[in-house]
Amino acid sequence: MTKRIFRAIFSVSFFMLLASMIVAVALLYRYFAGVQEKTLVTETELAAQGLEKQGSSWFDDLGTENYRLTWVAADGKVLYDTDANAAAMENHSEREEIREALTTGTGESERTSATFSEKELYYAERLSDGTVIRASVTQQTVWSLAVGMLPAFCVILIAAALLSLLLAGRLSKRIVGPLNELDLDRPLENDAYEELSPLLTRIEHQHRQIAEQIDEMHRKQDEFAAVTENMSEGLILLNEKGYILSINPAASFLFGTDAGCIGNDMLAVNRSAEMQKLLSEALSGSRSETALILNGRQYQVNANPVFTRGTVCGACILAFDVTEKRFAEQQRREFSANVSHELKTPLQSIMGSAELIENGLVQPEDLKCFAGRIRSESARLVALIDDIIRLSRLDEGEELQREEVDLKAVAEEAVSALAQEAKKKNVALTVVGEDLHITSVRRLLYEIVYNLCDNAVKYNKDGGRAEVRIERDGDETVLSVADTGIGIPPEAQSRVFERFYRVDKSHSKATGGTGLGLSIVKHAALACSAKLELESRVGEGTTVRVRFPKS
Ligand code: ADP
Repeated sequence: MTKRIFRAIFSVSFFMLLASMIVAVALLYRYFAGVQEKTLVTETELAAQGLEKQGSSWFDDLGTENYRLTWVAADGKVLYDTDANAAAMENHSEREEIREALTTGTGESERTSATFSEKELYYAERLSDGTVIRASVTQQTVWSLAVGMLPAFCVILIAAALLSLLLAGRLSKRIVGPLNELDLDRPLENDAYEELSPLLTRIEHQHRQIAEQIDEMHRKQDEFAAVTENMSEGLILLNEKGYILSINPAASFLFGTDAGCIGNDMLAVNRSAEMQKLLSEALSGSRSETALILNGRQYQVNANPVFTRGTVCGACILAFDVTEKRFAEQQRREFSANVSHELKTPLQSIMGSAELIENGLVQPEDLKCFAGRIRSESARLVALIDDIIRLSRLDEGEELQREEVDLKAVAEEAVSALAQEAKKKNVALTVVGEDLHITSVRRLLYEIVYNLCDNAVKYNKDGGRAEVRIERDGDETVLSVADTGIGIPPEAQSRVFERFYRVDKSHSKATGGTGLGLSIVKHAALACSAKLELESRVGEGTTVRVRFPKS
């Protein structure tokens, strides 16, 4: 700032000085040259008068210092010269001022020296006798005058420079002081220069804009962080070179890394061939998908290229857990295969019996037995289809109507529906416990109790017992079905809730089991938010507990 102000002051004073010197020199030169010329004319006229009156004797007592007088004859011969020997001087007839004076009476001319430093002014006047008197004076040229003034000019220039420096220092301090004290955090509260108002207003406006933009950015960042941090899917953002820009906690956990990997190559985090292919495809602009097994679970990993102005500027990797989905898909496939198989067996039996009857290969006395087989196989088919329908309704996750249900009443209803069956098997089926009410889905509760009681009767011993108990255990309401039946071997206990799983296939089929009863119980309990517990000892009996949480 001081430098600039100095430069401004100095250059202004320099040019002003230069201009005024040029003007002053020019004006003075013109004035003094004019005066000198007039004096030259006067001197010539006085010399002419003296010569006219006194003749050549006029020169005798002449004392000229500034002016040189030359007396020239009409033929140009120099008769007298105040500065030189006239006899040695050349003929002056060709001199411009002499020639002019001889012709017109007066003549003048000027001649500049070879160095241009001096100029000789001549004025000549013809006398009555035809001779010519000429006066001359040496005059300095403008240039020599200017060169002469140069030292003084330099001194003034140095003085101007020093003064400029001093002034610049003071001025810049005075100008810069208020600028340095500006409070740019509160631009409008400053009272510096009026001229700064537009600038300060603009700064204030930009402050507000920047603050708003920062707020907006923080908000978006928070939103992004909130979304990505709470996502169960792994999300990774990469730049165009495949370096990690952002990674959410789920992805960090999946790939066994932490936020410290930001800025590293994605391949340093996962170097699998699948990942390499995924990245190269995504970073070359095409969407890509792969399956990875991470932490013992199956993940589907999608990579999408991110474009800016038509070029790939990065990629977004999304990894989501598909273990359950794949498991469900596999279960569905197995279920379809099992269903077909389960349906085929009774149908083949029905078909076989019908064919034998059709071909007359059945004795009349055996017809009843064959008809009975067809009826029981059909009943099995109906039971199977009923169970499949129940299961698929549970699978569909239909809207369930919850209501206040008297659990004991439901249990008694199921028990009475199975009373005939229990009697046939000689099993004492009873309901004991408190009258407890829970908020749940009545139909599902009935399915649970019915299937558990059905199994307790089916897999019981002759003269055995089965008891449905309803009681409270802490906050929970517990419904248990205990029997004194054949029991389930330990290795099968974790599998009995699988679809179509039977411990003893022939026994199950013989008792009309479909292998779906406990699957229905499991799904129904899940839909009622209840927990299942199984306790069983081979030959002693089985207890299944259904724990309903506090409504
Ligand atoms: P099922 O229709 O064949 O009874 P479930 O799904 O109800 O099919 O039961 C699966 C298997 O678990 C049965 O085949 C049976 O072997 C065994 N099981 C279920 N409940 C009992 C029980 N109370 N006592 C002994 N075994 C049982």
